Amino acid sequence: MQQHTIQKPQSLSGIGVHSGKPATLTVRPAAPGEGVTFVRKDQGGAVIPAHALRVSTTMLGTNMTNDAGVSVATVEHFLAACAGLGVDNIVAELDGPELPILDGSSKPFVELLEQAGIAEQQAPRRALKVLKTVEVRDGVKFARLSPGRGFVMRVLIDFPSKVIGRQTIAFEMKPGAFARDVAWARTFGFKKDAEAMYAQGKALGASMENAIVIEDDAILNEGGLQADDEFVRHKLLDVIGDLALAGGPIEGLYEGEQPGHALNNRLLRELFADAAAFAWEAG
Ligand SMILES: [Zn+2]
Repeated sequence: MQQHTIQKPQSLSGIGVHSGKPATLTVRPAAPGEGVTFVRKDQGGAVIPAHALRVSTTMLGTNMTNDAGVSVATVEHFLAACAGLGVDNIVAELDGPELPILDGSSKPFVELLEQAGIAEQQAPRRALKVLKTVEVRDGVKFARLSPGRGFVMRVLIDFPSKVIGRQTIAFEMKPGAFARDVAWARTFGFKKDAEAMYAQGKALGASMENAIVIEDDAILNEGGLQADDEFVRHKLLDVIGDLALAGGPIEGLYEGEQPGHALNNRLLRELFADAAAFAWEAG
């Protein structure tokens, strides 16, 4: 399997979920081996390479900071689209501190990449092969990577609301599968949590335009859900985005019960901390 980039630059704009302010994202082709890099045009072109060890905070999303202290926020839905479409090398230029939240899913990013066109490169892709089981826990929540063929993920969520409840999904990363089964699943949250965050000056851009909003046992969005299990599909989308920070496709089995951005990042750090737990191989 060869590495891939995009054919030509392409842009989209939208508000950030944290700031509520508009930002434009422009994607550009990148050379083999360069991976995904974010460029803050409003910060003198500061570069923030997408990697698990650059994750600085995981409040409301996955945020990264470079050595000079320049950050980029809410990278996971964009990274999931790149990983889901097999885009290894890409530059993501931004004129603000966070990626647009758009409709709260990865679908607009998938469309952006498809409009830019996927291009094969003259370099073999490497995969991160899991050699030993690593696991991280936070109470009843856990995330685990273990050896296995292909990249298979199993995710479980359990929320004390009748509209969500207990949902599970099993997914294998194969060409076309992400766009078909995962990309469109929107983020979700409870109205009371959004109100509490808003009062603290957080999540200023959050609305029913970019999230499924739940109040007790009811969904407030007029159009309802796109699928009964849209919630666990979005959790899977977040896992795919967070694990894209490994720096290449994973060869192994991921299992997560009520995982979040913090747990997923701890999992990759745990993996990278043990040189015997992984190997980079032709993917
Ligand atoms: Zn998400």
